[in-house]
Order: sequence, then C-alpha cells, then structure tokens
Amino acid sequence: MLKGIVRKIIPFSFVDGPGNRTAIFFQGCNFDCLYCHNPETIKSCIQCGECVDNCPYGAISLVEKSVIWNPEKCEDCGLCVKICKNKCGPKFRSMDTEDILEQILKVKTFISGITVSGGECTLQGEFLVELFEKVKKLGLTIFVDSNGSTDFRKHKELTQLLDMVMLDVKSFDKDEHKMLTGKDNNIVIENAKYLGSINKLYEIRTVIVPEVLDNYRNVNEISKLIVDINPKIRYKLIKYRSIGTREDKINTHQPTDEMMEQLKTKACSNGCENVIIV
Ligand code: SF4
Ligand code: SF4
Repeated sequence: MLKGIVRKIIPFSFVDGPGNRTAIFFQGCNFDCLYCHNPETIKSCIQCGECVDNCPYGAISLVEKSVIWNPEKCEDCGLCVKICKNKCGPKFRSMDTEDILEQILKVKTFISGITVSGGECTLQGEFLVELFEKVKKLGLTIFVDSNGSTDFRKHKELTQLLDMVMLDVKSFDKDEHKMLTGKDNNIVIENAKYLGSINKLYEIRTVIVPEVLDNYRNVNEISKLIVDINPKIRYKLIKYRSIGTREDKINTHQPTDEMMEQLKTKACSNGCENVIIV
C-alpha cells in the first residue's frame, strides 16, 4: 500500500470548501511563495536526525533511520522547526490510505466530504487516487485545494475521482508569478480553463499583496478569465496577512478594506457574479 506524507488532519473544517469537511494537509510543495503562511510544509524531511536530541519533551525519535514525531508528547514549542536546516521540522506522519480512512470514518456522519490540501497535495497524486477511490465508496465529496501546478488534463484518474478544485491563481503575469512562487503560471491558467470546462472548478483565489504584486492588473485579468470560463465561479480575494510568514522574504503590509472593496468592484464590473473578500 502506498504511503502519503501528511502534515495534519483537521476532522471538522468550515473553511476548506463547502459545509463541514475533514481537511487533510499533505507535506511538500513545489512553489516557494514569498508570502507562504506555512513555510514548514514546503520541503520534505531529509532524515538527518538533528532535531531528535533537540526536543526538550522527547517527542522525536529515530526509528530505523526514519524520524518519528509523537504528537502526544509534543508541546508545540517550535524548537524543532527553528533548528531544522531543511526548515520543515518533523511534524508530519507517514500514513497509508487505511490510516486516513480510519480518521475519516470516526467523523463520517458529521461531514459532507473531505478536502485535500497542503503543501501541494497533487504532488502525491498516486496516493490521492488510492485515497479518493476509497472515499468515493463512502459517499463523501472530494475537494482539492491546489496551487495549480499539476496538469489536471494529464491526470485523468485523479481528475475523474475528485468533485471540485479550489485553485490558486496567484498572479496572471508569468514573470510576476515566477518572482512570487519560483515557477511560471502556464499550467495554472490552462488548469483554470480545463477544470472550468468540465465543471470542476469551485473557486479561484488570489492573495492581495500591496507593494509586491500588481494587484489591480491581476484582479482585472483574472476576473476576465473567470468570466470567459463561467461568471458564476467564485472569485475569492484574500487579504495578505503576515501571520506565519518569513519576514526576511517579504516586505509588505495588510491591504486596507478600501483597497479590497475597489478590487472587488473591478472584478464585479468585469462580469464576475460571485466575488468574496476574506
Ligand atoms: S514542537 Fe518540536 S521540539 Fe517542540 S515539543 Fe514538539 S516536537 Fe519537540
Ligand atoms: S525534521 Fe529537519 S532536522 Fe529533523 S530530521 Fe528532518 S530534516 Fe533533519
């Protein structure tokens, strides 16, 4: 059975898609966004073992060359992430689909579905296919929260099994997207069009970052893209917030309510019918 590297599972989430959902966050991302709120989820552990003796609560051990984190002993002091040269820390678990299913079954009667997120969950696509096949049999819906870098056109099994994708379009401009994330946005834009054409695009999200991004151009172009696909698709404008970010990577501030409203007005005037600010 395949193994997935899971950062955390939230049994009940009201913010990761519609209704009450179990949200599963996978470790590892192929973007390195300047404003990432969970930078410890980007890289994967290289099993160097350095954090083991640095945990004051004995919550980390080395078993057959693998670092094992014990959440029951962990006091969330943050020291392991601070000393990790890989900046990931050991707080992840290697789980097979049955392990995850066990967690889902505990809450199944109270949820409408699951959402997989990250990191970038689609990097563990083969594992997701195995998981989704089992989750489908439970009658639950499957939402995918993605940075859009995996070409859904080429991952037919994954795309067929999932119900909806919540897609980040971080910048419409290729160079700006690369400056922000380290990668260009070719596949991201193609994914938006493709997922929209098969009615699997739940929403597009853009984080608004003053001084760093050309926010007005982005919202203008991305809202036009949405209208071309389907004006009813939700466009979520997200206020940049500094919590969890790496201060050495980004120098900005939270956008004002006025700026957010102006951007929303722009998207609506372009024809978007469902724009929200969070
Ligand atoms: S956060 Fe890391 S160092 Fe601190 S108790 Fe938990 S595992 Fe140990
Ligand atoms: S979490 Fe970091 S310090 Fe600990 S073993 Fe992995 S790479 Fe090394």
